[in-house]
Amino acid sequence: MSTADLPESMSTSVLAGTKTITMEKRQLPAYGPDEVLVKIAAVGVCGSDVHYFRHGRIGDFVVDAPLVLGHEASGTIVAVGDGVDPSRVGQRVAVEPQRPCGKCRECLAGLYNLCSRMEFYATPPVDGAFAEYAVIQDAFAHAIPDNLSDEAAALLEPLSVAITTMRKAHVEPGNTVLIAGAGPIGIICAQTAKAFGAAEVIVTDLVPERRERALRYGATRAVDPATVDVATAGLDVDAFIDASGAPSAVSAGIKAVRPAGHVVLVGLGNPQMTLPVEHIQNYEITLTGVFRYTNTWPAAIHLASSGLVDLDSLVTGRFGLDQVEEALESDQDPSSLKSLVYPWK
Ligand SMILES: [Zn+2]
Ligand SMILES: [Zn+2]
Repeated sequence: MSTADLPESMSTSVLAGTKTITMEKRQLPAYGPDEVLVKIAAVGVCGSDVHYFRHGRIGDFVVDAPLVLGHEASGTIVAVGDGVDPSRVGQRVAVEPQRPCGKCRECLAGLYNLCSRMEFYATPPVDGAFAEYAVIQDAFAHAIPDNLSDEAAALLEPLSVAITTMRKAHVEPGNTVLIAGAGPIGIICAQTAKAFGAAEVIVTDLVPERRERALRYGATRAVDPATVDVATAGLDVDAFIDASGAPSAVSAGIKAVRPAGHVVLVGLGNPQMTLPVEHIQNYEITLTGVFRYTNTWPAAIHLASSGLVDLDSLVTGRFGLDQVEEALESDQDPSSLKSLVYPWK
């Protein structure tokens, strides 16, 4: 396919204001010498997209101009910049939706997720992938094997969050890992903990259906925190991962960690919480957060294409580009787990 075959404009779904999605015809995005143009196949709906849609902001990131949502994307390269190997045209790729500056202290330290000049899809003012095409830097368009579906390729993004979480939690073969919350991230974390060699994966959730689902996705045990006091049940886990954002779950989970164990806070919830500081001190627990990811797509591609992590069956809703609003509202249905938008369907 030559660039002459490309259309001049594309359909784009735009967050025009809080709870307002409009369809627009926009010019195809321009791509720089180190960038590729991707024809988007599938885009996952993330909690952050839903948050921007409902509230117009996440913390300091405020939507004050029309924004294209969607950052969990897969597709096919249809054009490349001057500095990119032209044989990449036609390649199926998973998009790592960020463009770090490459020059700042954090970038030079290999911590490009923390780049202060980061341009990240669907984070104001950078547009995302709820569109027919999107642009990404060459090195962040990761070639995928044929056995990986468009859906799984898009969901390598949340899997990347889970991989970063396991790395930060120092999960090792034989470990016991406690995960609070059986939403999409909790479920993917449970599978990834298993793939990292955890012998026991304990998932807590208040909802019975979600606990049952966790058992189908890597959990060896599902616990109802309303009936079991996680803090005093003697779990003695090597790592606790909070994917709930709930203060009570965070506090109880920390108290379940063994001496010198790790805690990783990945769930978005209350921005302020009370923590069991004495336990953290006396047990010398290492506690950290997770902000996106660096260098996770190669591992994610391996975990998904080898079947160690199942992403395809997480998809519970499929929507066209003109149904983005429905896709964003689909989390109201408690049985829904992951919705995908298909810009060409
Ligand atoms: Zn996401
Ligand atoms: Zn930087």
